[in-house]
Amino acid sequence: MQIRYFEKKQETIAVSDLKTLQLNRLKKTLGQIFAAEGFLKNKLVKSGLKSIKDIEKIDSLDEIKNLPFTSKIDLVSAYPFGIFSRPVKNLIRIHASSGTTGKPIIAGYTKTDIKIWSGLMARVFCAAGISKNDIGQNAYGYGLFTGGLGFHYGAEELGMMIIPMSTGFTERQLTMMQDIGATVLFCTPSYALFLSEEINKNVKDRSKIKLKKGIFGAEPWSDELRKKIESSLNIDAYDIYGLSEIIGPGVAFECVYKDGLHINEDNFLPEIINPKTNEVLKDGETGELVITSLNRDAMPLIRFRTKDITKLTRVKCQCGRTFVRMDKIKGRTDDMIILKGVNVFPSQIESVLFRPEYLEYIEPVYLIELYTENLLDKMNIIIEPKAEIFNAGESRVNSIANEISHKIYELVGVRAKITPVPPGTVERSQGKAKRINDIRKKI
Ligand SMILES: [Zn+2]
Repeated sequence: MQIRYFEKKQETIAVSDLKTLQLNRLKKTLGQIFAAEGFLKNKLVKSGLKSIKDIEKIDSLDEIKNLPFTSKIDLVSAYPFGIFSRPVKNLIRIHASSGTTGKPIIAGYTKTDIKIWSGLMARVFCAAGISKNDIGQNAYGYGLFTGGLGFHYGAEELGMMIIPMSTGFTERQLTMMQDIGATVLFCTPSYALFLSEEINKNVKDRSKIKLKKGIFGAEPWSDELRKKIESSLNIDAYDIYGLSEIIGPGVAFECVYKDGLHINEDNFLPEIINPKTNEVLKDGETGELVITSLNRDAMPLIRFRTKDITKLTRVKCQCGRTFVRMDKIKGRTDDMIILKGVNVFPSQIESVLFRPEYLEYIEPVYLIELYTENLLDKMNIIIEPKAEIFNAGESRVNSIANEISHKIYELVGVRAKITPVPPGTVERSQGKAKRINDIRKKI
């Protein structure tokens, strides 16, 4: 297997050197926050880190657990510019994501940040075996969302031609894909699946599709969905992780071994915590990912609560990168369904529905409905049998639904009602897929 790096020295840095670099960068970041005299400095001072001298005394990364968390609510309350550690006049770009109370969260970037971010994205491409000779079709949304421009600048940094399609306009996507000869595709996994359906329906001559690889992110997706996308588009599919509060896409990425996502650890310090008790968990334990930025210029954050659920492993990867790996995101603490006291993630349901043996009978789409019946919370999973199965009659459809219900019970321990609907009924996503419809009566 051919292993590519963008910055080999940094990506394969000895673990002890990495720790030293991280500690130095953490202290520098804290100093930067102090110098900015803003919202984050006040938080640090309240937590007991009173002066630059206290920062100088930090001599181990473990001491990070004494620092306060930063949450989305903090970022909303500092809206629009209160979180920045550089004057607004130094910024060259902003992005934004949805906040919690209607106001968005603003992410700010200086020229230095854009340069660093582009380099991190170039690492992502190289890790997936993509080179400057590839042609990238970028179907992530361009705009306030970080996906479009994050991939765009990364591709330019690598020297790869990029087709800035943005999302939607599927017919035009297919025309450009064939005429320009895109070899790699960037979009959400649900849109990749949608595009594959459209290609199968509308492209008569498959030899015109030159795609070899794709990098799909911005929503949690299962390995079963990966296999489905890989077989229907005939490509290699890679996961990527990021969030606009931290920088955007490029926080973590898969290498060709696809065995967890390497976190760009020279730039981001990860921790896993128990989201209820806030206790720091050990490697291998599943919990909420918390990230401290180590190399951000405009907007460094300390211990940002991502709400994403995963676990870390430091077992060395065959690709030679020394950066820690995290599991594919299992879900978000927000998306976690608590049903009869059991925690269920949509990705677990998906991992059953998208097994190859069921995808022979059903389309790779679904919607989880949560509802209340006789004061009890219930789960209904809407599936869409393929036309020939649906038309074969109720008993055929029901036997498949029963088997799926049983397998879901085996995996998550909760009984779900399975509702088959006519072909074409479940909404196909062109951006982030909606997986849950919660209509439970709140008491
Ligand atoms: Zn690797």
